[in-house]
Amino acid sequence: MSISEKMHEAEQQLKQIFGYAQFRKGQREIISHILQKEDVFGIMPTGAGKSICYQIPAIMFSGMTIVISPLISLMQDQLNALQANGIPAVCLNSMLDEEHYQEACRKIYRQEIKLLYVTPERLETAHFRRMMAEISVSMVTIDEAHCVSQWGHNFRQSYRNILPFVEQLPERPVISAFTATATEEVAEDVKNLLGLRQPFCLTTGFNRENLYFAVQQPRDKMQALLQFLQKNRNQSGIVYCLSRKLVEQVTENLQRAGFRAVRYHAGLSDKERKENQNAFLYDEVQIIVATNAFGMGIDKSDVKFVIHYNMPKNLENYYQEAGRAGRDGSPAECVIFYAASDLRLNRFLIENANENAEIDEEVRKKIQQKDKEKLFIIQKYCQVQGCLRKNLLQYFGEKTVEYCGNCSYCRTNCWQKEITIDAQKIISCVYRLQRMNLHFPQKKLIEILQGSEREEYQHLQLPEKLSTYGIMKETSETDCRKIIAYLVQTELLSEKEKILSINQKSVAFLKEKQKLFMPEIAVHSAPVTRKKSEIKEEKLFLLLAQCRKTIAEKEHLPAYIIFTDMTLRDMCRKKPVSDMAFLSVSGVGRVKLEKYGDAFMKIIRNYNYQQQNEN
Ligand code: ADP
Ligand code: ZN
Repeated sequence: MSISEKMHEAEQQLKQIFGYAQFRKGQREIISHILQKEDVFGIMPTGAGKSICYQIPAIMFSGMTIVISPLISLMQDQLNALQANGIPAVCLNSMLDEEHYQEACRKIYRQEIKLLYVTPERLETAHFRRMMAEISVSMVTIDEAHCVSQWGHNFRQSYRNILPFVEQLPERPVISAFTATATEEVAEDVKNLLGLRQPFCLTTGFNRENLYFAVQQPRDKMQALLQFLQKNRNQSGIVYCLSRKLVEQVTENLQRAGFRAVRYHAGLSDKERKENQNAFLYDEVQIIVATNAFGMGIDKSDVKFVIHYNMPKNLENYYQEAGRAGRDGSPAECVIFYAASDLRLNRFLIENANENAEIDEEVRKKIQQKDKEKLFIIQKYCQVQGCLRKNLLQYFGEKTVEYCGNCSYCRTNCWQKEITIDAQKIISCVYRLQRMNLHFPQKKLIEILQGSEREEYQHLQLPEKLSTYGIMKETSETDCRKIIAYLVQTELLSEKEKILSINQKSVAFLKEKQKLFMPEIAVHSAPVTRKKSEIKEEKLFLLLAQCRKTIAEKEHLPAYIIFTDMTLRDMCRKKPVSDMAFLSVSGVGRVKLEKYGDAFMKIIRNYNYQQQNEN
């Protein structure tokens, strides 16, 4: 099969199994390289859809794929999701009883399994190695690949033994590695330690558009927390605290105020930790109050807020913890409650850290020094007068626009300036130039838009031939630059090696005459309002969510495994009442249509009927 045929099949799988109409940014490229048996290394933010990048090739490969995952809870979540879509996947871990373990092994030997999830420790056991030598392994995938590097957090020694494991397999499989957090230092380290062979590397960028970032300095944090929770009743959320003592206090206060909250920290018994975590996953409680011991392995996709009751120790940790909100792509909030005392507490923790008892004094000093520098940076973030998202992304080495419009700074200091006309002018100018086979970087494009009299343009006869020549004479160069940057950031223009070009999105924008707004700094703030259509659909959404809850309880699965909020929202928009229409809802594949279609469509039919009678 040629690669284009394979990609066609990959698209079919995406649709039929996972129920998604198209690939997201980065997924197509990664999948096509894997299908050509090339190693890949993908750095994609949480919620970007890394799983599908290896799951679709795994389904298509003839042999099995081993997925190495740091935590059993993470695996369980992935397994639930795969099995809900009818994909043969198992895990081997210490939580399985003998009977289930043997059953899983039999299936593996019979080559019925497409994806096998294990921790890196499992690779070291003789039994596992013997088993893998006897079956065909097409791919080894490393999830949370930053764990491989000692420069990444959560380092575990067994991660170093992945390469020796791969090398002793009868045939070298494709290796694919994924992470949401990797600085260049970590990325290089991971590639080397895994022995990736000329890997295809892809970074989709760290931005999470759906997350709202905020920093507050409340005089009374508990009061502020209660107020926030009043406004977010019945939404799932995490409250992070710096110390166990604070976790206890906050949990108690919340419970006393009538919230369904549980605690989580390393001082609790394994049993209680597990129970509390599950209560949160299965929506038996609304809030989990935790130290940073909580979270690795939490794939709950409908977390609506992450509050940091204290300033965390650095931006890496912060972004990862905050990133647990809104994995399903729907809007979610990330708030830090900052106080000067957080700085002291963090300093104390750094100076008294003894996580790694084995390291010598000199290394310990170096680590402390680095930790203090990082603490200084996050403190600056908490006090910055400017766009928070811009600051965060800059720290991770990414360029962005000045104002994102979706952080506490932007929402209080920015307004949405309409730039529809300017955007149309710019995009059509690029479009026309492209048709004349002319390709320019931003600087020259601005000169052309402003009608520069440079020889070069005269020579090309632009003033005569190009109707958009000088069309933005009245706009300042700075404004032009800002708007173009915004168009590139929102992908309404493409930029490759500095050259601007149009894409499908630009064409659609011109055709559909959409309005476009850009956040601008201003004295007055504009209140954010919800879309009217969303409010109207709320009733149906609640009915569908209730149905989902009933099914989830019956099947002992977290609700988001049945359908995510995004899927329910799409259902509200499309209101499908036939199998075909139901399949067109994002997140509905064959298996889920069969299992759940009738139940949900029954509700929609009823709802439609009532609406008709009301009108
Ligand atoms: P990550 O591992 O990168 O944090 P996941 O793989 O868990 O992200 O995906 C996040 C969510 O996005 C999941 O609910 C997943 O089903 C959904 N998703 C993934 N790919 C697509 C796609 N192409 N279209 C729509 N939703 C998708
Ligand atoms: Zn902002």
